[in-house]
Amino acid sequence: MTPTPPRRPFAFLARLFGGGDALAGHREQILYRIAVVSAALLAPFAASNMVTGRIPLGLAIFATVIVLAVDAVAIYRGRKAPVPFALLLVPAAAAVTLLLIAQPSYGVLWTYPVVLFTYFVLARRIAVPVSLALLAGTTVLVQIHAGSGMAVRAFVALLLTIVIVNIILSVINDLHERLVAQTLTDPLTGAFNRRHMESCLEDVIERQRRSQASAALLLIDIDHFKPINDRFGHAAGDTVLRTVVALIADRVRRLDRLFRIGGDEFLLLLPDTDGAAALIVAEELRNLIAGTSMSGAARVTVSIGIAVLQPGQQMDAWMQQADAALYEAKQQGRNCVASGAAPAPVEAD
Ligand code: GH3
Ligand code: MG
Repeated sequence: MTPTPPRRPFAFLARLFGGGDALAGHREQILYRIAVVSAALLAPFAASNMVTGRIPLGLAIFATVIVLAVDAVAIYRGRKAPVPFALLLVPAAAAVTLLLIAQPSYGVLWTYPVVLFTYFVLARRIAVPVSLALLAGTTVLVQIHAGSGMAVRAFVALLLTIVIVNIILSVINDLHERLVAQTLTDPLTGAFNRRHMESCLEDVIERQRRSQASAALLLIDIDHFKPINDRFGHAAGDTVLRTVVALIADRVRRLDRLFRIGGDEFLLLLPDTDGAAALIVAEELRNLIAGTSMSGAARVTVSIGIAVLQPGQQMDAWMQQADAALYEAKQQGRNCVASGAAPAPVEAD
């Protein structure tokens, strides 16, 4: 019997307030725009409060305008913003606090842009507690200075604002993750694409340089794939490609990575794997594919070339070694596995 998955009644809250930070790469651009508009709109309030004698409030708004302007000018000039984004909240929160004490019904209006501001300039994991602290502080101040009727309304309206902004950010994160996945994968088979392969191979080479971790490549090519297309049609060929990928993905470990690098050619990266283990995996995959009847085409076989990463070997040489091994497997009559000998090291003069 399949075990019942544990119920997670608050999973929706984790989804709502958790997730990645899709805005991370855009924060300066966002801050620049918010800073320009806010500084322009707030400057008259700073001046009018000073003129009418509300000096602390006027100074707090003035400080907010200044720090926003300083960061905006730096970003405009292509420099790093000198005032950390989190510190921008300090004068803004001080101004709102002073106003909540002096004129709670006006003050509460300003808490909304400040809460939104936190989500666009801080990482989300920091913005969530900061916005909830602002919610608590606002509610307490409104309760003290304007009574519970107003406090309840301010609390609910501000909480609703926080929930809505989190929903919007969750959607943005979701779209961002999908976009990233699309740039890394081949749309037909779901295997990773060539672009992603290069960075993964470089990572494994670097890991070997640091910790001598072994790694192997299996270069897998479908035998006589062109005739399958010609005989059964392109759609049947596509089904074969998807089935081969599904079979490989089902068999390999979580850390192994499968890339589609050509029409019917795939590269399987096996980290922490030596030559003997790679041979076992290759033979298993070859047998698995040869023994599976594929819908839309008769039986399909693959040839596999193995290349074990040599100390100091670069990516191109490693790939060439796998290529040579695959060529050998094809020469041996296909539906077989060959291990490529490491190229002889180049002698220094
Ligand atoms: P060999 O045993 O030597 O590997 O022969 P082969 O016929 O598999 O080799 P070849 O490289 O000539 O064939 C690859 C074919 O893959 C040619 C091309 O039309 C087909 N192909 C490339 N991309 C796709 C695709 O996305 N879908 C389908 N259905 N076919 C594709
Ligand atoms: Mg082929």
